[in-house]
Amino acid sequence: MPRVVPLREARPQAGPAAGPRLRLDPSVCDGVGICSHLAPDVIGVDSWGYPIVHAEPLTDKRDVRQAEAAVKACPRKALHLL
Ligand code: SF4
Repeated sequence: MPRVVPLREARPQAGPAAGPRLRLDPSVCDGVGICSHLAPDVIGVDSWGYPIVHAEPLTDKRDVRQAEAAVKACPRKALHLL
């Protein structure tokens, strides 16, 4: 299961081959879970319904598109692509 990586742990990309990283700011997330429906391949949910984002860089274009949709739709601006 992917681990949640707080926004403050976000680091620059490792190199030119690395894709963007999806980050969650859990301090503002309300846990409704719209994001997990828009990006099921990169965002899971825990047993309380809060999102779990992949910690690794997103290299697949489909994953990036899903992540971008989730970031755009998040009502609390809790998701970021870095
Ligand atoms: S859409 Fe945003 S506020 Fe809602 S669960 Fe996902 S990250 Fe949290």
